[in-house]
Amino acid sequence: MNAPAPKGRQILKMRLTEIRDYTPQIRELFIKAEEPGSFSFKAGQFVMLHVPADPKPLLRAYSIASDDRRKDGFRLIFKYVEGGPGSQYVWSLKGGELLDFTGPFGRVLFREPPTEQIICLNTGSGVSQHFSFIESNLEKYPDLKYRLLFGVRTEADIYYVEELERLKRAAKDFKYEFVLSRASESWKGKRGYVQNFIHEYDYLKVPSTFYLCGNGAMIKDVKAKLAGENFDPKLVWAEAFD
Ligand SMILES: Cc1cc2nc3c(=O)[nH]c(=O)nc-3n(C[C@H](O)[C@H](O)[C@H](O)COP(=O)(O)OP(=O)(O)OC[C@H]3O[C@@H](n4cnc5c(N)ncnc54)[C@H](O)[C@@H]3O)c2cc1C
Repeated sequence: MNAPAPKGRQILKMRLTEIRDYTPQIRELFIKAEEPGSFSFKAGQFVMLHVPADPKPLLRAYSIASDDRRKDGFRLIFKYVEGGPGSQYVWSLKGGELLDFTGPFGRVLFREPPTEQIICLNTGSGVSQHFSFIESNLEKYPDLKYRLLFGVRTEADIYYVEELERLKRAAKDFKYEFVLSRASESWKGKRGYVQNFIHEYDYLKVPSTFYLCGNGAMIKDVKAKLAGENFDPKLVWAEAFD
């Protein structure tokens, strides 16, 4: 008899139940656990999608965008990378397919006990990890100040507003804003990069934890800024996607 695969290494067969295209570059997949019929993870973790390839599949990491109290499946947000095999595979899917995953993996988890303020800075598809943190913890920690800055290029790249509004309605104190690096002239919101606006959160006075997710250059920049102000690096958690 074969020994069971170590936890996390077992191939999970999961059904793609729904596809949502938010922009030409952003796609969300709704995944349902099938074999086995349930899947446990902690907010902040990722799964490895096995992208069919010869002679063996290519493994690509994707952060789970769901509430970790769910056991029946999860949502994943994908940003299209030109010429990337993972992206080509995800954009070839039609719905209904059985996909192979391993996981969950990852140690960027929501830190407990939490600080009074939770500051999430993300770019591209990095909102997935932060959405999972906030949705999973809102009920347990209703009195925290949840803040999220979401960096995209233009107005046309904005997505997930409905989902973020849903969190806002459920939360006592959740605020989010988009920051556009290439906004049109009529854009009235924030312009530039997410890292240019962190001073608004008064994190040197209000006990805060930073969660950074997405673009590696953004993460490097925020960490350097915070280090320059002697902000405790143990309160800065990052997941780079590139
Ligand atoms: C822990 C972790 C979690 C991740 N979670 C997500 C997620 O939730 N959603 C998601 O879309 N991606 C996520 N990624 C990135 C993902 O694993 C793949 O790297 C990405 O989908 C590209 O794969 P590909 O096969 O299409 O292209 P590849 O051939 O693997 O990549 C082509 C090139 O693009 C670069 N690249 C990779 N990702 C990006 C990006 N987002 N923007 C710009 N350039 C990039 C690579 O460094 C490489 O040079 C995550 C990565 C890690 C390490």
